[in-house]
Amino acid sequence: MTFVSFVVESLLEGALLTPVEKIIFILLALVSAGFTIHGFKTIIDSIRKGRPAPELKNVPLSLVKAAVTVLFQQTIFKARKALSAIHMGLFFGLITYAFVNLIDVLEGLVPGFDLVYSGRHVPNAPTGLVNAYNLISDVMSGFLLVAITVFLVRRFIVKDKALEYRENVLLHPKVKAGGQAKDSLIVGVFVIMHVSAHLMSQAYRLTDGADPFMPIASFLNSIFGASQTGVHVAWWISLGWVMFIIPYLLRSKHTHFFMAPINLGLAKQNPRGQLDPAIPLKVIDGQKFEPGAKVITDLAWTRIMDAYACVQCNRCQDVCPANFYGRPLSPSALEVNKRYLLKEATFGSHPDRWLAPLTETVISPEAVWSCTTCYACVRVCPVGNEPMADIVDIRRRMLIDGFEIDSGVQNALQSLATNGNWMSKGKRLRGRWAKEMEFPVKNATEEAVEYLWFVGDTASFDERVIPNTKMVARIFNAAGLDFGILYQNESNAGNDVRRVGEEGLFEQLVEQNMQAFGKAQFQRIVTTDPHSFNTLKNEYPQFGGKFDVKHYTVVLLKLLEEGKLTVKNKLSHYKVTFHDPCYLGRYNGGFTAPRKLLELLGVEFHEMPRNCENSFCCGAGGGQIWMGKVAPGERPAENRIKEALSTFGEGANTKTQLFIVTCPKDMIMYSDAVKTTGNEGKIEVRDIIQLVAEAVGVEEGERVVDAL
Ligand code: SF4
Ligand code: SF4
Repeated sequence: MTFVSFVVESLLEGALLTPVEKIIFILLALVSAGFTIHGFKTIIDSIRKGRPAPELKNVPLSLVKAAVTVLFQQTIFKARKALSAIHMGLFFGLITYAFVNLIDVLEGLVPGFDLVYSGRHVPNAPTGLVNAYNLISDVMSGFLLVAITVFLVRRFIVKDKALEYRENVLLHPKVKAGGQAKDSLIVGVFVIMHVSAHLMSQAYRLTDGADPFMPIASFLNSIFGASQTGVHVAWWISLGWVMFIIPYLLRSKHTHFFMAPINLGLAKQNPRGQLDPAIPLKVIDGQKFEPGAKVITDLAWTRIMDAYACVQCNRCQDVCPANFYGRPLSPSALEVNKRYLLKEATFGSHPDRWLAPLTETVISPEAVWSCTTCYACVRVCPVGNEPMADIVDIRRRMLIDGFEIDSGVQNALQSLATNGNWMSKGKRLRGRWAKEMEFPVKNATEEAVEYLWFVGDTASFDERVIPNTKMVARIFNAAGLDFGILYQNESNAGNDVRRVGEEGLFEQLVEQNMQAFGKAQFQRIVTTDPHSFNTLKNEYPQFGGKFDVKHYTVVLLKLLEEGKLTVKNKLSHYKVTFHDPCYLGRYNGGFTAPRKLLELLGVEFHEMPRNCENSFCCGAGGGQIWMGKVAPGERPAENRIKEALSTFGEGANTKTQLFIVTCPKDMIMYSDAVKTTGNEGKIEVRDIIQLVAEAVGVEEGERVVDAL
């Protein structure tokens, strides 16, 4: 008799369960399956209500990659390493338990199917495999009990603050009333009862004493002994719970068990620095869309799915600079609120909730305007969610619907529309700094250049930054770089305009710049501004502008490596740290060039704890630098200066301590933060170009031909 025919034939006979119990069990399983299918269908139907998302390529491969990522739990280790390790164990435990449950069902339904003592009652049982299974399921049961207890203690006894929200964050009433905690408690108690009952059912089976491959069950057997009634009761407790919990999971915050891997597989494929258009490019059946998002179905379907995939772990909130600053923004609350809104609209049978404004149910208007678009929340999310993209879509619609916006932002947008810059400066003033140089700076619309230098607003107009702009020009000139600028033909590149939600104005700026590029002859673009760098590189291709765009740190490094610039003075008298700007680092992976440059210059380099992908935003992005009102509390830039100082340590200092930036906005944000934190004299903010100039011997107002 084969193993399979043994199982099939045995189903027709009496077993651990009586024939009546078998019928009850099978009926229960069918009811449970019915509720589960209904749950999945409801979720899928709600996701399908979303707008078309940008087309995904090679979905099967992405899903396979996501499955591997989930299997090795790669994404959760971006933060909270110790808890993530326990979560990883919990994940493997629950996967193992899917198989354990199957075996338990067979033990209940099939007479003589009993795997204890190497499966001695099962004909032709593969002994080695059975022993391995017994050992793994026994040890994993013990681990699961410990792991789930740790998570319950964390939530209910230690009351980890990381799981809480600020008072000023908009929360769904059910979240406020502890809905998440209730879900966690139900699932936690289920796991404990399910696993304990399974262990007891195994322990009660050990009629001949200990089984060396079941150490925990054997230990329990030594206390409680063997009992057929015990096996029976424990089996029903263990498996009965499963019938209830699977459909429940689909109606709880634990939908992430099922949806997270799919969400990861269907996550954003476009470059990080490319926002989706305000109106979907793919229109089905002549549907008409208004730009941005007012209600939940205005979001792309992939971002409705985000809510079901969300683990509600608050990792995104931990890294959010706006949340740190005490603003009413929590990217995790946004996803959690979406989840509860969806639950009301679907399982709660309140179809009117589909029409509930997002600014009243999901995120407050003030929170919408607090986002710096730093991408930290998206980067850290273990399941590929994009709360930041929702915020930009909500901004887009708020602007159309006439919501009140900060007067500073309004002025900046007006100036951008009229002057092409946010600083209310006349267009002709854009190139004034260049005309003050001691050598001619080419106009790229009049003569061909290799490098078109896209200068950007802050570097062109802000008196605090212009000396650095001039120094970049001197170094390029000293190195013999063939470069030119667009003078009055340059407009703001539009990166922050788009992130503020002004898609129409963004498109206008793109058009203006594309016309200017059309007049110019150049091979590549260089810029000192990471914001311009990002949109020129990642978003202009959406409008037909495909350019080779370089950040000036890359160009400077190349000039040094090619010997076109030479380090004459090593800068070992400086102790420096470096701040990764969001739009250079996290968005575009520009981590290496600035660090290599600093190494070549010979400074004493100290890395801040939050660096590279994990860098902390200065607080200026996403239009925040335009805001007229400054909220009370410690600003992200102030916190960053303190981080830099603590990185240097307290000891006696013979070296000048420097905070190095590679973004004109950072120059302003951090110089200000040094003053407001009272750290003048302890740390100085410098653009990397100032160090390069000192090292290669280029000075203000001089033409240093021997640096070539
Ligand atoms: S993009 Fe940055 S500021 Fe905006 S929600 Fe995410 S972490 Fe917070
Ligand atoms: S959005 Fe991602 S990081 Fe934030 S709570 Fe949800 S799963 Fe965690």
